[in-house]
Amino acid sequence: MRIGYRYRPNRLAPEYDAIVIGSGMGGLTTAALLSELGWKICVLEQHYTAGGYTHSYDRAGYEWDVGVHYIGDVGAKTRTRRMFDFLSDGKLEWAPMDDEYDRFYIGDKVFCARAGKKEFRDNLVAQFPDEEQAIDRYMQLLTGVGGALSALGMDRVLKPWQRFVSAPYRKWKTPAHIYQKTWDVLSELTDNQDLIATICGQWGDMGLPPKQSVFMVHAMIARHYLYGGFYPVGGSWRIADSIIPKIQKAGGEVFTYARVKRILVEDDAVSGVEMEDGHIIECPCVVSSAGIDNTFSHLLSEDAAKNHGYTDSLAQVRPSMAHLGVYIGLKSTAKELGLPRTNFWIYPSNDFDAALQEFYKDRNAPFPVVYISFPSAKDPDYLNRHPGTATIEIVAPAPYEWFEQWKGTTWGKRGDEYESFKAELGERLMRHLYDKLPQLEGKVDYYEVSTPLSTEWFSAYRRGELYGLDHTPERMQQTWLGPRSQVPGLWLTGQDTLTCGVTGAMMSGMLTTMAMVGMRKMTPLMKKIYG
Ligand SMILES: Cc1cc2nc3c(=O)[nH]c(=O)nc-3n(C[C@H](O)[C@H](O)[C@H](O)COP(=O)(O)OP(=O)(O)OC[C@H]3O[C@@H](n4cnc5c(N)ncnc54)[C@H](O)[C@@H]3O)c2cc1C
Repeated sequence: MRIGYRYRPNRLAPEYDAIVIGSGMGGLTTAALLSELGWKICVLEQHYTAGGYTHSYDRAGYEWDVGVHYIGDVGAKTRTRRMFDFLSDGKLEWAPMDDEYDRFYIGDKVFCARAGKKEFRDNLVAQFPDEEQAIDRYMQLLTGVGGALSALGMDRVLKPWQRFVSAPYRKWKTPAHIYQKTWDVLSELTDNQDLIATICGQWGDMGLPPKQSVFMVHAMIARHYLYGGFYPVGGSWRIADSIIPKIQKAGGEVFTYARVKRILVEDDAVSGVEMEDGHIIECPCVVSSAGIDNTFSHLLSEDAAKNHGYTDSLAQVRPSMAHLGVYIGLKSTAKELGLPRTNFWIYPSNDFDAALQEFYKDRNAPFPVVYISFPSAKDPDYLNRHPGTATIEIVAPAPYEWFEQWKGTTWGKRGDEYESFKAELGERLMRHLYDKLPQLEGKVDYYEVSTPLSTEWFSAYRRGELYGLDHTPERMQQTWLGPRSQVPGLWLTGQDTLTCGVTGAMMSGMLTTMAMVGMRKMTPLMKKIYG
């Protein structure tokens, strides 16, 4: 399960062309693409295993994923699929979920999303027969977003003067509603709150409910899953496992247990990094995939961050929500237990924003969303690794503040009060599972609960952020959130520089590489990837 090479100073090569901080999808994509261009890359990952949120872990004979439940757009030779194929040398395979890939329990009603553009549309119309016109208008809006997403990518990668020159083109490609709030756009199409809720049933995929989130990211996610959900065969850890050889082939390495303490700046340019153990790795080119907050609030010195305007810029964005995870093991197979290849989204009512607010005010209020996923049912290879067993994962929001009193304590040693708080939350979430699948009562062999502090401990997000920065309209219009930093030699990548999601982070890696090497070197590489 543990992938990557354990860091020791004496295992480092004498010189690297670039250092990448963080081995999530953004960091690995950047490292792999640069490696393909002949760069020797040193990837430094603080966790005991590589992959960032795509890592998996095993315990008590079971295996779970922490940040991958389904990926869209990989069922045909799409751009997304071609990039995954290229990075993994075709070694990453995908298993389709059920046609009904998402099921939404909204109050006492049940709706769903179905794979295929036409099927998705027809299924919505079948569920809301009086709303055909609104649904067709919504489908048109989704189609129209394509150009805006390309314009966003372009905006991120351009130099400031190029951005200035191309502004009219990007404006033409970006209709005004793209940067409106999701609910504002949808409520112009319909006043049917159940339809709006069903359309926004995946809001957990970006961590912000419709009255706060930006329509652009809503639409991007809806488009991403329009042709169904897919699961990486062998588990999500296979993503990093299949990409790392490309980095090694060019002489680079992905080091684990390798926490960077500081990004070093000399004469106003990057000169390398200082590791947690005090060792200094010199290199004039550093790519940070550790998240914007980590990079500018912690890795770069306060002076450097302030002098380059980042202290002010950081005030324009805020961390995304934190979450609880429940990791469940059962001593029967998914087939025996009747587990579906469908994600469950359970909501107390169709007012997602109100439910979230209520829960943040009163932790005894109903969970505003409970997401249940069945990884062993989705993975055709699971039983080869763990015969006779099955796994389930539950995700639900929980504010970091509820756990802040235990900040700085050691994982596994946080004391009885913390454990009993965690157990209480875990039991409440388990009741949602039994409510939907009563046949599982008495069948659960093992389960454990993670909190925002677990996210902080293992994934180094200081507020336990589920998706890095919040996807508000304001965040998506911050032009400084891109590959280029103001500090010469420092580049940025990962979900914060584009959008969340494994594919969002992967595409950020492509944009970062493009910004670093320029179009002359990137064009032949793009031809190789996309043909
Ligand atoms: C519960 C959950 C469920 C999700 N489900 C899905 C899903 O089903 N489908 C989907 O597409 N996306 C999903 N996502 C989102 C997706 O996983 C992320 O958006 C994406 O993987 C982020 O990639 P990244 O490279 O930007 O960041 P990360 O994967 O977070 O990588 C950043 C890395 O930097 C490392 N790091 C930080 N500081 C340091 C330091 N000082 N030194 C060294 N290393 C450091 C961290 O340890 C981490 O490994 C989910 C996320 C979560 C949390």
